Amino acid sequence: MVKICCIGAGYVGGPTMAVIAVKCPAIEVVVVDISKPRIDAWNSDKLPIYEPGLDEVVKACRGRNLFFSTDVEKHVAEADIIFVSVNTPTKTRGLGAGKAADLTYWESAARMIADVSKSDKIVVEKSTVPVKTAEAIEKILTHNSKGINYQILSNPEFLAEGTAIEDLFKPDRVLIGGRETPEGRKAVQALKEVYAHWVPEENIITTNLWSAELSKLAANAFLAQRISSVNAMSALCEATGANVSEVSYAIGKDSRIGPKFLNASVGFGGSCFQKDILNLVYICECNGLPEVANYWKQVIKINDYQKSRFVNRVVSSMFNTVSSKKVAVLGFAFKKDTGDTRETPAIDVCKGLLGDKAHVSIYDPEVTEEQIQRDLAMNKFDWDHPMHLQPTSPSAIKQELDYQKIFDNMQKPAFVFDGRNVVDAEKLREIGFIVYSIGKPLDAWLKDMPAIA
Ligand code: NAD
Repeated sequence: MVKICCIGAGYVGGPTMAVIAVKCPAIEVVVVDISKPRIDAWNSDKLPIYEPGLDEVVKACRGRNLFFSTDVEKHVAEADIIFVSVNTPTKTRGLGAGKAADLTYWESAARMIADVSKSDKIVVEKSTVPVKTAEAIEKILTHNSKGINYQILSNPEFLAEGTAIEDLFKPDRVLIGGRETPEGRKAVQALKEVYAHWVPEENIITTNLWSAELSKLAANAFLAQRISSVNAMSALCEATGANVSEVSYAIGKDSRIGPKFLNASVGFGGSCFQKDILNLVYICECNGLPEVANYWKQVIKINDYQKSRFVNRVVSSMFNTVSSKKVAVLGFAFKKDTGDTRETPAIDVCKGLLGDKAHVSIYDPEVTEEQIQRDLAMNKFDWDHPMHLQPTSPSAIKQELDYQKIFDNMQKPAFVFDGRNVVDAEKLREIGFIVYSIGKPLDAWLKDMPAIA
């Protein structure tokens, strides 16, 4: 029986390993983590992350061939294949701060593997890492190897939160990079055989290590760039009277462009896009490519611009101040069907409103009040002007929203600002709301109150 151990029981490690276990009953999969609360949650009825379909997959194989444990060293020692799926956040201090990936967690995982291994291992990079990380990991492992043979593979994960299980069951492709040596090819083949249990062979791409590492950063950069491109258009749409949904539909019909990922919004969030682009920018700079670095930097600049543009629109529409005005924020996670709030644009929007002294009530069915408080307190804010953050009363807005009732209870003029183009703007206008839909022709009121951005 092949034994797999995955270091890191997070948004990637948990779901990917659960799917491997469910699809490969003959493989024993153990997911390990240094965080006891996380492992306890994986072993409980309330999993630590929300993903549609995840509960069912975990329940089908937990205790059978899927295990969650804090005994990291034991399971690493016993494994044939070790996935490393630890977090690789942006460095906050030191060389490359604000851009480079922080590989502290990765390095300590690699050193631990070297310490406890007694048999040959295939070590798989599942985390998103800078190009050439495999070389550094290889050095750590081989310099401490005690005669053990390590093969490093890059197998970046392309799942999207909110559709992780669907993506893992039917991936567009699985990418495996390895050394172009006989041992390297053998290791690639061993990992390929795991995925071949359910992924068609033609969807499993094998490349050299550096192509695999760079492809992950490139994919996220391209995806984020599409969002920034359509968001840049949304600003122009508002200025000209064009409708961004119509523009997106029209350009998406071009088969070279395609219809997906063309929705205007208040900006992208999540733990990956910004982090990976910053990392890409840093790699370009380190390789003497400032023009390329600047090109990708612009994707993040537009994203920041879109978030501040939204806040400015809200504030300017309400006579240039939201001080003491009650604002209900519906949705806080970075997108639907997830409780993940990492880098969610909602943080910037709420902070912008709180900075102008609004009274903000926030509700998201998948995010706890404590998490929201933590996210909003994370960075510096003005201690002299305490925030007026009020707990929401979920019952008031939990199920179907009764907009007529909401309107009746609001001060007039009453506003709805839709950062995702999800509400029926016409219906709300009939009720009497002034509605702002991102990238759509502006109501007369909003036209007269141009955003100050
Ligand atoms: P996460 O923070 O949810 O999980 C990482 C886990 O690793 C944490 O539970 C942490 O306790 C654990 N950990 C850290 N160091 C450890 C160590 N030395 N030993 C054992 N456990 C350790 O992160 P995530 O969202 O799962 O992302 C993991 C990696 O996958 C990142 O590199 C990320 O860029 C990449 N990725 C994420 C997504 C996504 O949608 N979240 C998608 C594709 C790729």
